[in-house]
Parts: sequence; structure tokens; C-alpha cells
Amino acid sequence: MKNTIIAISLFSFAASGAGKGSDWDAAGKAWWKHVSYLASDKLKGRNVGSPGFDLAAEYVAKQFEKAGLKPAIDKSYFQQVDFVETSLVSTSLMLVRGDRTVQAPIPEEAQTRFSPNSPEEMEAPVVFAGYGLTIPEAKHNDLDGLPVKGAIIAYLTGGPDKIDGNLRSHYSSIQQRWKALKAAGAVGIISIANPKTMEIPWARQSLSWGMPRMELADPALNAAGGLLFSAAWDPAKANDLFAGSGHSIEEVLEAANKQEPLPHFAIPGKIRATVRVSIRRVVSKNVAGIRTGTDASLKSEYVILSAHLDHLGEGKPVNGDGIYNGAMDDASGVASLIEIAKALEDSKISTKRSIMFLAVTGEEKGELGSTYFAGHSPVQGRIVADLNMDMYLPLFPLKWLEVQGLNESTLGKDITEVAQAAGVQVQADKEPNRNRFIRSDQYSFIKKGVAALAFKFGYIPGGPEEKLFKDWYSNRYHGVTDDLEQPVDAAAAAQFNGILKNLAVRVANADHAPTWQPNSFFRRFATKSE
Ligand SMILES: [Zn+2]
Repeated sequence: MKNTIIAISLFSFAASGAGKGSDWDAAGKAWWKHVSYLASDKLKGRNVGSPGFDLAAEYVAKQFEKAGLKPAIDKSYFQQVDFVETSLVSTSLMLVRGDRTVQAPIPEEAQTRFSPNSPEEMEAPVVFAGYGLTIPEAKHNDLDGLPVKGAIIAYLTGGPDKIDGNLRSHYSSIQQRWKALKAAGAVGIISIANPKTMEIPWARQSLSWGMPRMELADPALNAAGGLLFSAAWDPAKANDLFAGSGHSIEEVLEAANKQEPLPHFAIPGKIRATVRVSIRRVVSKNVAGIRTGTDASLKSEYVILSAHLDHLGEGKPVNGDGIYNGAMDDASGVASLIEIAKALEDSKISTKRSIMFLAVTGEEKGELGSTYFAGHSPVQGRIVADLNMDMYLPLFPLKWLEVQGLNESTLGKDITEVAQAAGVQVQADKEPNRNRFIRSDQYSFIKKGVAALAFKFGYIPGGPEEKLFKDWYSNRYHGVTDDLEQPVDAAAAAQFNGILKNLAVRVANADHAPTWQPNSFFRRFATKSE
């Protein structure tokens, strides 16, 4: 990838009418400067444990210092996080049907995942369990009456619309899903994406398959402990997996699309998998700085603004480009952290509570840096809110702001009023089946009882913005083209930063810390930790 023509192509997309009295274009340029460094080829995709990530961390710490932030961790901006990295040496997958054995090509047909727990060889029967969900609150149990013990559970992603989206999302997380399956005696999982909600086309997913995987070194923090086999299966080839069962993927998808109950069935034969891996320890870090509050008692409470610093690193070259620059995912959010910290410092704004700026590692490995921070930080138990900025996608002017978690806590009212004051309307998550509220770092805090929000640039369905948004997912999301040559509305990003800054200030100055709504699903985590 070459990054020489950015400036010209970029700013022709700059927003107009972004606000009175503010120079959003200039602020957008300042923001883009950070993105340009963090997503440059020099940093090689900022993979956890790579020199590029460490350079990015140094840069952020320096910018935090310039913005007047205090080191957050024992006089340092860095919190060390230890990982175990598993690299694939070889793997194979066979469908055993009586005395016939059929190869399932990896990754063309199935993308196997591997971990330090992967046995070198294993064989297990497969059971298709609908959505593979166990949701006690909705009295939904896909495992009922199935021979789960010792089996690999195959399932279609998503869930019935009649079950609340947040409830469904929560139980779709690997942690909750595997907890229920493990308790029922399963040994592995196979996910089959519903093509309707597949964010990355299968062929493009396959390009980044096989990269080393990481987990936190502390086994107590591993969400998928005991999972012996895990794979994603190409929905277009799922009939190979279903062969002999009397069922087809077409039947399953039709039922899903009509919101009818999915079939549940055992598949004759077994899966045989071999995996060889090598393991090494990797050290990485979260970067955190604090703008200390001014109220004698409230300053020990923290409003966190977060974004993730890591991305996917390098992979097989596509058209000569093997660097996953991660410009939107999530150099954009880290650049916003820096710009918001600077704006607070420049305008000498003080707040009663402290505001922490947190750039975490290991998001792309499963929100691992934030999991570690939420469980091991000097401010644990004193965090009142997390406002997370991950790939908020400033691809067009900011007229609508989609807020994940909008109706879940008192933060919903805060963001609604702050955005409206800037001439921006908020909207709730339009696609709850994509589970976005639980798919980034805010969820690490939510699970500790902390009220949180996450954001995307919003749009009215059916308009040109929707097309830009969806095209970005199919063409650039987790691809080498999420780089510095894509069209971005930097002035609109600056306007977004202004809104997030005002939101953080409002929450940090409020008389009461935010709380979950009485009927929110997520409230349970707060009451548990009280
Ligand atoms: Zn990502």
C-alpha cells in the first residue's frame, strides 16, 4: 500500500455545515494526522506483541503527555498485559461417513480455530442445534433433547427475533455460549453464518485465516477454556457437513428467514481434526492517562473514554498489500482519544470526576486488553462509565449518531441531549442481530457493572449513506483496504469528537453516576457486583 495521495483525496470529502463557530476542517486535519501515523505501513498493522504496536503505544503515551494527562498506572502510561500466542503449524479436517472419509479443505470450506488447548488429533460426532443458544430468561434452550455429550455443536448465527436483542447478544458471546455447551458436555463448536448477516464475504475472511491467535496468559481470564474444537463453516458448503442427515442448509435458512423454529438434528458420522501448534509468550500493553477531577470526593471516580490500539498485523498479500492498517479499526478511535484530551486541555475545562483516556491492546483477539484492565486496574470499582469509540465510521456527514446501549442506561439521555445540542439526532442500534453492543471493549466494563455506550455514524435506511456504510463492511472491514487511501469525512470525525468530549464532561460533572435502567438486561452485572 502506498500512502502518498491521502491529503488530496481525503479532504474533498470533508463535511460542510458541521457547526457554527468551530473550525471542523482544521480539527479534522489534526485528527487525521494521528490516524495517518497509527495506520501507516511503518506500524505494520499494530499487531499485539509486534514492534509496530509498541511504536503506536509510545506515540499515544507522548500525545497523552502533551495533552496534560497524568500517567494512570503507577506513574506510567503503560499497563503490561501478558498473552500466550498460538501459531498454527499444520491442520486438517475430515468428515468421516462410515468407512468413507472426505477432506474438508481449510480455509476454503471450514476455517478452523486453534488454541493451546487444541488436541493434536480428535474425533467427535456433530449435532446441529438450531441457533445453539441457551437463554434461561427467554425459556429458550436449543440443546433440549439433543445428544450433546461428547459432541461438536453446529449452529446458525443469529437467533429468534422474538427474543430481546440484548439478551440474544449476551448469550451469543463465546463466553456465555460455551459456558452452557460445556456444562451440557459438548467438546466443540461449528458456527455457520447466516449469509444475510455475514459482515465479511467468506473468500475475504479466508485471506486472514491462519494468523496466530492470542489469549490472556492468566487462564482464569480465558473465556473459552476447555473448548477442544472450534470452526466456522462456509454456509454455501454447509450441505457437505449436513450430508446424510436428511436436512439441508436451504431448509435451515428458510426457517430462519421466516422466523420459524429451526430444525435440530444429529449428523451421521464424525469429524476428525488434526492440529499442530507452537506457543510463545507475548507481552503487550494498555496505554492510559488521566485528567484529574476537581471535586474532593468525586475525583476518585472515573469516566473512561476508550478505543483499541491493536489491529490485525500482517497477512498474505492481496494485490501486493499484506498490511492490515486498521485506519478506521481503530486508529480512528485512538486519534479521537488524543484529540478529545487535547481539546479539554486547550479549553482548560475541568470536571468534578476524573476522566481516563484508555487505548487498549488485544481487542481484535477478543477484547483481551480491556478484559484485563477491567479486572486489574488501580481504578477498579471506581469506574462510573465507559464511552467506547471503535470504528465509528465517519464516512459521511454526521447528521445521525447510532448509539449502542441507548435505551439501557441513563447515559442514553446524556448522549441524546449532547448530540441534539450539536444538531445531531441519535438512533438506537438498527441491526441488533450483529451483536455490536457486546462486540467491543465496552462489554468488558459492562460485565463489571459499568454503564457504557458505543457509537457508529448513523443514517436513514435506504439512503446513500446506508450504501456507503454497508459497502465499507463488505469491502474494507478487516481487510487490507481499511487503510489511508479510503475516503473519510475528517471534519465529521472532528464533530463527533466534539460531541464525545461534551458527553464525557457532562457525565463527569453530573451529581449522580450513571445507572442502568430498571428494565435493562445489563443491570444484572451492576447489582451482582454491588
Ligand atoms: Zn476489528
